[in-house]
Amino acid sequence: MPAFEACLPITIHAGEGESPENIWQAAYHLHADRIGHGLTLTANPQLAARFRDRGICLELCPSSNREVVGFADPAFPASTGHPAYPLRDFIHAGLPLTLCTDNPGISRTTLAGEYLAAARMTPGGITLWEALALVRQAFVHAFLPSAEREILMKKSDQQVFAFMTGAQQ
Ligand SMILES: [Zn+2]
Repeated sequence: MPAFEACLPITIHAGEGESPENIWQAAYHLHADRIGHGLTLTANPQLAARFRDRGICLELCPSSNREVVGFADPAFPASTGHPAYPLRDFIHAGLPLTLCTDNPGISRTTLAGEYLAAARMTPGGITLWEALALVRQAFVHAFLPSAEREILMKKSDQQVFAFMTGAQQ
């Protein structure tokens, strides 16, 4: 309640190994602006549609999900035989989506490491455009006043444009 009273933006981690009901509770009882994991969201298409319409962003955490749920990552032979990471299902579902480290201390990872993990764990890898779209969604759904967010997005868009056109300084 103090967080709600202070109008703080809220991320709730839900649906990593639990049913979509937990994600529903995070959205409807705890007013989450962003959801960590949300891996079972696609099992409830109605809820997924609300996430698209309300712009609730999912933060997928590939390393943590491999450790906790069990997904295949070629860099970790012990994970062989586990299911493929469903990142592309979420992209195809049109959900607001980015990547996150979850607990970098426990998973011994960095944000860049999570992009590499996502690329390894997604069948066929991820394209440069998919990676850039994930990065951009992080800015779109940043917990910042809108004026600050707009400045940040313009800066990042300029950097990406310079990078893509080979004009980076
Ligand atoms: Zn988490």
